[in-house]
Amino acid sequence: MDHAAGRSALVSCGRRLDVLGFTPATDGNVSVRLGADVILVTPAGREKGELSPEDLLLVDLEGRIVQGAGRPSTEMPMHLLCYRRRGDVGGVVHAHPPIATAFAAAGVPLDAPVMPEIVLTVGTIPLVPYATPGTEQLAQALEPWVDGHDAFLLASHGVLTLGRDVREALHRMERVEHLAKVTLAARLLGGPRSLTDTQVVSLLSGATPPGRPAG
Ligand SMILES: [Zn+2]
Repeated sequence: MDHAAGRSALVSCGRRLDVLGFTPATDGNVSVRLGADVILVTPAGREKGELSPEDLLLVDLEGRIVQGAGRPSTEMPMHLLCYRRRGDVGGVVHAHPPIATAFAAAGVPLDAPVMPEIVLTVGTIPLVPYATPGTEQLAQALEPWVDGHDAFLLASHGVLTLGRDVREALHRMERVEHLAKVTLAARLLGGPRSLTDTQVVSLLSGATPPGRPAG
């Protein structure tokens, strides 16, 4: 992705997160891969809905600032881990969407196959054990999970999603929050019914490619 397109994609993502109410005050952080070993990341302590392209920082995969003023996001270690471990990842979104964060705060996972479109586009969402936000320890807590998943509940904290680009990561964030809302409502109605193993196998072998669920 060229640098101007990357900056534009991050600014748009920040505005969308703000509109959705997923990043209260200065919460949340977003990044995009611009090359094999360089990423663009949001600055620390800024409202995600009010970022300009020039506010974003270019950093290498060791976290050294290549271009830009100010401090990069405190959650940069978590972002860097995802890019270092996963060559397929081109965008990372971390936010605190309220209902999914409530599940994370309650320590209740969202890992059951409840909704077909989640199975197809997000996959299983593990609950990563708690570690202090903004530390290397959080990246270390995530490390055992990062290879097999594209969305994570961070216990007592929030949600992290990955994508081939930042748009896909954002869509996964929106879908995780939607799943959390539906699961919460279904619990009031007797509890969500998970798809059976046979139904999941049938779904995954269907003609609909991932990312383009029917309906
Ligand atoms: Zn956070």
